[in-house]
Amino acid sequence: MAKKNPDERKKRHISTLVTQIGRKPEDQFGFINPPTYRGSTVLFPDVATLESLNQPYTYGTKGTPTVRSLEEAWSILAGAEDSVTVPSGLAAICLAVMTATQAGDHILITDSVYQPTRNFCDNILAKFGVLIEYYDPHLSDQIFHLFRQQTTAIIVESPGSQSMEIQDVPAISKAAHEKGICVILDNTWATPIFFPPHDRGADLVIEAGTKYLSGHSDLLIGLVSANKKWAKRLRTTFNAFAIGAGPDECSLALRGLRTMALRLNAQQKSALEIADWLSKQEQVESVLHPALVSHPDHNLWKRDFLGSSGVFSIILNERYRKYIAEFLDKLELFGIGFSWGGYESLVLPFDCKAYRTATRWDPPGPCLRFSIGLEDVNDLKEDLTIGLMRLS
Ligand SMILES: *Cc1c(COP(=O)(O)O)cnc(C)c1O
Repeated sequence: MAKKNPDERKKRHISTLVTQIGRKPEDQFGFINPPTYRGSTVLFPDVATLESLNQPYTYGTKGTPTVRSLEEAWSILAGAEDSVTVPSGLAAICLAVMTATQAGDHILITDSVYQPTRNFCDNILAKFGVLIEYYDPHLSDQIFHLFRQQTTAIIVESPGSQSMEIQDVPAISKAAHEKGICVILDNTWATPIFFPPHDRGADLVIEAGTKYLSGHSDLLIGLVSANKKWAKRLRTTFNAFAIGAGPDECSLALRGLRTMALRLNAQQKSALEIADWLSKQEQVESVLHPALVSHPDHNLWKRDFLGSSGVFSIILNERYRKYIAEFLDKLELFGIGFSWGGYESLVLPFDCKAYRTATRWDPPGPCLRFSIGLEDVNDLKEDLTIGLMRLS
């Protein structure tokens, strides 16, 4: 299986690592990249091999060399014992949750979680007898007050989707592990490049590879990585569902991986510059970017993260609410659409108020989420300057 020494991550700088991992030219006639193997049936040389299943590949649902290249690369990058690939980030969340829960369990989910995670847990997982409780993302070690006899998993997501709260992952993990509770982290925003998830205490980690791993808005893929304690259970659950990502998707993801550190660094820089600039505009009430000192969780971000990505949110002054469409519709460089992490900049109005249950989300004005792409930062600022003028 896709097992690698987790310490491999520490040997070289991450920018070098992403160019090296998950490929073996010596096994590929010298070609740099792993070929795309498409296949269902794998032939066995004889009955004895068939009966012992003693060969590296046995059937398409269990992976091909292309799939395994990505799994191996991801395990190294995440500092994990093993990783699996699935057809979307949401499928990765479902698989991780199914790995860690069974009927009768109680699970804790951060109120700042990606909304479709909430939908899966409330409407599907609950049907199988799992009790779901949401918690305040700012609870750290005090989360133990919510633990019950049947608590088996905690879902954390840092920063929170859209609302951008940073969670104390090490403290939550420490409290959870004292009771043998599994910590499931959605690490999509930071990626392992800016937040080494297993080192910080998470057991099962989700990445929507659709975002920064792909980087080109042309791919849906998800990954789940596991530490030593959870690797076997993850693989067993994955095999039971047989929901692997296809070989073409894995090939595209491996291609995205090679430029991922470069793109993230560029997007981090532009996003910080734009976030800082936006915070000085009179139409903007506040900017929710954890790398800005004005963010309420900035110190926690600084302690645990190695960088920040290209996604952040802003709150506009309430008096501009009725002109939001006027602002966004005519932007020339920012597209309006779901997802993020591609080379192109996006903006999306949002309101978490409707679905929060454990905490109140009551911002002083309308909210927008930005995903900063690879365009020239001054061109982006100019587009926004003209847009903000339409507001006032
Ligand atoms: C987009 C996203 C997902 C889901 O990824 P898909 O590939 O679109 O299903 C999961 N978690 C977070 C935080 C996301 O932003």
